[in-house]
Amino acid sequence: MIYFDHNATSPVMPEARQAWLEATEQFIGNPSSPHRIGARADNALTAAREKLADILGCDPLDIAWTSGATESNNTVLHHFARSAPAGSEVWISAIEHPCVLQAAEHYFPAKRRRLIPVTRGGVIDLDWVSEELTEKRPCLVAVMAANNETGVLQPWREARAICAQYEVPFFCDSVQWLGKLPSKGLGECDFLTGCAHKFGGPRGIGFLKCPAKSRLQPLLFGGRQEEGRRPGTENVAGALSMMAALEAREKALAAKEHAGRLGYREAFEKRMLESLPGAQVVGAGQKRLWNTVSALMPEASQHRWVVKLDKLGFAVSTGSACSTGKEEPSHVLSAMGFQPQEAGRVLRFSSGWETEPRNWDALAEALLKVYLDAHPVKTRTAA
Ligand code: PLP
Repeated sequence: MIYFDHNATSPVMPEARQAWLEATEQFIGNPSSPHRIGARADNALTAAREKLADILGCDPLDIAWTSGATESNNTVLHHFARSAPAGSEVWISAIEHPCVLQAAEHYFPAKRRRLIPVTRGGVIDLDWVSEELTEKRPCLVAVMAANNETGVLQPWREARAICAQYEVPFFCDSVQWLGKLPSKGLGECDFLTGCAHKFGGPRGIGFLKCPAKSRLQPLLFGGRQEEGRRPGTENVAGALSMMAALEAREKALAAKEHAGRLGYREAFEKRMLESLPGAQVVGAGQKRLWNTVSALMPEASQHRWVVKLDKLGFAVSTGSACSTGKEEPSHVLSAMGFQPQEAGRVLRFSSGWETEPRNWDALAEALLKVYLDAHPVKTRTAA
């Protein structure tokens, strides 16, 4: 199988696997235990925290380890629901991951929630944010760094700067950006979340960056770990493994090892558009992640495409892994103005760091094969 579903999860990279194995053997203690074996585990966790803070550009004290981004994102919304002034609003981009949108729906009544609109290209409307801020101050503005379904990069730096002018806390879900693009500057966001398994680290580990002075309202109760922000025994091996993966990715990014990757994606898109009548790239013309293509396929349903491609040896997705199988059209595509029938024809191809041009070529050939199998008459006409 050729794996084109890295935005759902990525295989654990060798550096991360090695770090996990070593940490599991070396740090057998609970970081909260009072003996030296516990202290060793705690020191290792502190060192990992310092590394992460250094990469993101923030204070290590601002970082809490969590089980992943779903937990981190829920914690942010929970925190604001419990600590924000009564009646204040949260403004959330319409294309956030469901774990942000649904947490907001859970914690805030409709009259306290506003969706930041996006353009047809899938970019949040910064003017909307600037204009609305002149009228009102929400307790939180949430804009993700890169969208998981379309790969469209969001102007999080600009959004953060605008919010800072008005002293409004800014929250960024950086899950799909981390490891694919340099992390520089992300640590300036007031609240920042991420997880390891989207960039070659293990599943079940992530982080929440929040100002240490904000006295975070924890989502869970039962322990003083992570300065009371996240109770539960810390996943030491997970944190060390995550940092091994992130450090390796950052190093490769600094050395511009992935510079050609955007070209692979573009060549694939060109080939796909030339060979499949009616195909479209979602977010075409926008800055997008080098690994992600969201494409509107000709006719047949997306599930049919996924099954056919699977049989031909390609693992692709219909969009967000979490939405697969549900009947409603993707909220991301709907926010971008796609009709439900169009949204039902969208496939997502998300490559990895090891994906070669020949893998993209093979995918383009497989797409054409599926198309031609479904359109035998047109083939004969064309011949
Ligand atoms: N945020 C984004 C943008 C995602 O793509 C995902 C996973 O698909 C999540 C959050 C949830 O992450 P996790 O799997 O660590 O809970």
